[in-house]
Parts: sequence; structure tokens; C-alpha cells
Amino acid sequence: MTTYAGPPAVRHCPDCGTPENSPELFCTNCFHLKGAAPSIRAATFVRRLAAFLIEIPLFVLTLGIGYIIWWLITLANGQTPGKQLVGIRAVQKNGAPLGWGMTFVREFVIKFLVIGTLSNFLFGVIFLVNYLFPLFDKNLQALHDKAVSSVVVRLDPLPAARAQIDTSADPWGSQQIDR
Ligand SMILES: [Zn+2]
Repeated sequence: MTTYAGPPAVRHCPDCGTPENSPELFCTNCFHLKGAAPSIRAATFVRRLAAFLIEIPLFVLTLGIGYIIWWLITLANGQTPGKQLVGIRAVQKNGAPLGWGMTFVREFVIKFLVIGTLSNFLFGVIFLVNYLFPLFDKNLQALHDKAVSSVVVRLDPLPAARAQIDTSADPWGSQQIDR
């Protein structure tokens, strides 16, 4: 370690090398979840929407009871049946598992009871605002994400040619900025 008193050290994204000096939870370049393992990236809005849209057909196809059993199992992975099929999951803001209990709170208490009930009184406005919220939120969170401090990430790994700069000479992921 040197005692060089230069500018403060800046962590760099393990996936693309972009300096992580902004307050957002995700890398502003490749949407890697800061602090999480390499290749853990934000779920796209389209995937989240797809997961939501297939929940009701899945419920019908499995006669309800099948869906409920499946749902209770997938909660342990931060998922619902829809999320599992499109390959996304909810995790804590640092990438750690959300756990069965908090996923239950997220899916049932917040989304179904609170937002569902409020939407009944407000003609679905809250429901729509909640689902569109990630499009405008700097941390890509819906309101139910903010309620339990979760984010939604993709399960599939990054393509092989992911690193744009060589960070091997900087194993701590921090280096001084040249000015
Ligand atoms: Zn990045």
C-alpha cells in the first residue's frame, strides 16, 4: 500500500470497467448490479413485463392449485412461476438472496394486498404507475421493490467477451484516476 494522497479511489465495474462513482445501484453502462458477483445484471423491463403477463395464463393452465404450489416453491429463489420461466429473480440491493419470507412480503403483501387494494379504489392507476416505475427510476425499481429494498436481475450470464478493459493488474477493483 502506498501513502500517496491523491484523488479518492474509485471502484470499477467488474463487467465493463466503467468507474462506479455514481449513486445508482446498477452500472450506468452495462447494468451490472454494483457489489454483486460479476455478470449479475438488471432484468430488462421487457422481461419483467413478460413475467407478469404470463402469470395469469399459467394460473389458468395449472388449474390454480398447481400455480399456488409452484409459486410457494419459487419464492425461495426470489421468483414467481412467471419470473422463473423468463429467467429473472428479485434479490437484495447488494445481490444477496432475498429469501422466501421477504419474497412472500414482496409478492403477496405489497403487490397483491397493498397495491392491489389501492388500485381497486383508484381505477388501477397505482397498479399501472407501479409497473411502469422501473422505466423512470434511476435504480430500475418498482414501488414494491422500494418497499422491500429489492432489485430484479437476470439469471443468464454475460457473453464471453465481456471485459472491455483489463482489470487484472488491479485486483481490488480500485485505482487512482489520472488527471
Ligand atoms: Zn458495467
